Amino acid sequence: MTTPHTASIIDGNALSAQLRADVMRRAMALKARGITPGLAVVLVGDNPASQVYVRNKVKACADAGLHSVLERYDADMSEAALLARIDALNQDPSIHGILVQLPVPKHIDANKVIEAIAPEKDVDGFHIASAGALMVGQPGFLPCTPYGCMKMLESIGYDLRGKHAVVIGRSNIVGKPMAMLLLQKNATVTICHSATADLKAMTLQADVIVAAVGKVNVLTADMVKPGAVVIDVGMNRNAQGKLCGDVDYAGVREVAGHITPVPGGVGPMTITMLLVNTLESAERLV
Ligand code: NAP
Repeated sequence: MTTPHTASIIDGNALSAQLRADVMRRAMALKARGITPGLAVVLVGDNPASQVYVRNKVKACADAGLHSVLERYDADMSEAALLARIDALNQDPSIHGILVQLPVPKHIDANKVIEAIAPEKDVDGFHIASAGALMVGQPGFLPCTPYGCMKMLESIGYDLRGKHAVVIGRSNIVGKPMAMLLLQKNATVTICHSATADLKAMTLQADVIVAAVGKVNVLTADMVKPGAVVIDVGMNRNAQGKLCGDVDYAGVREVAGHITPVPGGVGPMTITMLLVNTLESAERLV
């Protein structure tokens, strides 16, 4: 009798715990030299999901021995007032990373806000200077979610050279930087999106699939080549209200070689890489 195949799980919680222990050690070493890495998290408005995200980020900082400040403002805060706060944080020597939780209210131009953050404190990696640095292969802050996905691939010792990676989604914060990072590691990269004519034809060729769409069951078992590595960035609610990814986990797990779960996959890694970026921003000062 043959045992049914199931993919190895890439455990984002376990990997995060390892990486966060390293952040904590390095933060202590910095503290001994008089520098406490500090993150400022700015939240405008009362979006319930954003409130959960910022709370998790602030807690993760505290757990890893990083200083953090949470600045919360009413939804009617003016753009000028927000830009002034960012300017003050840019000048504040106790702050090494600044994060403005997106989305901001409609009357505020998110691009203007991101560009107001000093590039040397842009730990989210969304500033055009960070995006440009990634594009041309210069050092800079990497956006936390794709950075976390790369760490997950690294954790299984996966060599991307010559492999075909398919990224589903082309947002500035996930899909596009993900594709650039895979390309940097010598993968052949295909980027799919809502106008892709035959998604399944693309994904069936892939050695690595990163799903970053925001829709349940975008990737099902019939779309995956046996043994492929599947990374699920999506965060959705299913019909029962349970958190789930873009991937039909139960089905794809029977075909893939490795798979990331939701929850417990990319989500914790995103916060972990935010801690890493903040720490490394502070380390640049010594
Ligand atoms: P986004 O800006 O909405 O981008 C979604 C992308 O998916 C777009 O490029 C869109 O194509 C593409 N798309 C939509 N429907 C498609 C389809 N049927 N087939 C192929 N592509 C399709 O979203 P995002 O900010 O990148 O986030 C994606 C997902 O990741 C969301 O669920 C989000 O909650 C989650 N997320 C998770 C984390 C984490 O830490 N786990 C972090 C960030 C985001 P077009 O460009 O053509 O519209």
